[in-house]
Amino acid sequence: MRAMVCATPRTPLALANVPDPVPGPCQVLVRVRACGVCRTDLHVVDDELPDVRWPIVPGHEIVGTVERMGSEVTGLALGQRIGVPWLGQTCGACPYCRTARENLCDFAQFTGYTIDGGYAELAVADAHFCFALPDGVGDLEVAPWLCAGLIGYRALRMAGHHAKRIGIYGFGAAAHIVAQLARFEGCEIAAFTRSEDVAAQAFARELGASWAGGSDEPAPFPLDAALIFAPTGGLVPAALRAVVKGGTVVCAGIHMSDIPSFPYAILWGERRLVSVANLTRRDGEEFFQLAAKAGVRTRTTPYPLERANDALEALRSGKLTGAAVLTP
Ligand SMILES: [Zn+2]
Ligand SMILES: [Zn+2]
Repeated sequence: MRAMVCATPRTPLALANVPDPVPGPCQVLVRVRACGVCRTDLHVVDDELPDVRWPIVPGHEIVGTVERMGSEVTGLALGQRIGVPWLGQTCGACPYCRTARENLCDFAQFTGYTIDGGYAELAVADAHFCFALPDGVGDLEVAPWLCAGLIGYRALRMAGHHAKRIGIYGFGAAAHIVAQLARFEGCEIAAFTRSEDVAAQAFARELGASWAGGSDEPAPFPLDAALIFAPTGGLVPAALRAVVKGGTVVCAGIHMSDIPSFPYAILWGERRLVSVANLTRRDGEEFFQLAAKAGVRTRTTPYPLERANDALEALRSGKLTGAAVLTP
């Protein structure tokens, strides 16, 4: 099969012909129809995460069809369209797994990070961690749901049900999905982007943000919660200053630059600063249902598989509106 392989840290991916992967007893072989490009893929190839398995095929927003099934796979059918997310496998036995927090599993494996991912024509995945996908949403459109959507959903839930005025910092793939969920649930949204990024601000307004502006500007109204999707630690004190007493600041990225020190007064008043890590399978079940009900529409820019490097660079430079998606 053809795959885009990152051989060593901080080098461009290379198109390679590699042997077709063979599914184990609990795995499926997936023929990839689309694979979204996530900021985490940049953190992987830039070697900003610990223990990347080199060489690695990135990609953890896989949409494809079941081509072969291991002998112990149940509940899936040949030819069925499924999604393969970031969480590739958990141990099922550690204290986190045993308390419904498999997203924090001590021995988790992650697609496109410790397991080869979807920047390829084929991928294998543990059948227990694959999702059935709702009908009526195209392959390219649904691909970003597999991580950007799921993480956005988990961040929104972390903000709490009382949060009705929500600030979103960084308006990329995850933000443009969570904005639609939040609007569907009756929330008011303020979108903060790089001050010069008027395209992202216009995009945010189009998706129902009542205000969009630069992250150096004061919030237009007091926020019950702030969701930070940009990997910029400097946004944390700004967001803490913008939330009301009892408000929550959620850091939704896997990697962030250092957070500058800040006065305790902006945390005081039972403001909470939390991070969101990975996903649980339950998040997936809840999110796919809600996203279908809310009629979430994703904005995608397609790239052929062999142009994965261009897609990553477009994401890095902030030139994308919505999400890049690779097609083999
Ligand atoms: Zn575990
Ligand atoms: Zn991701």
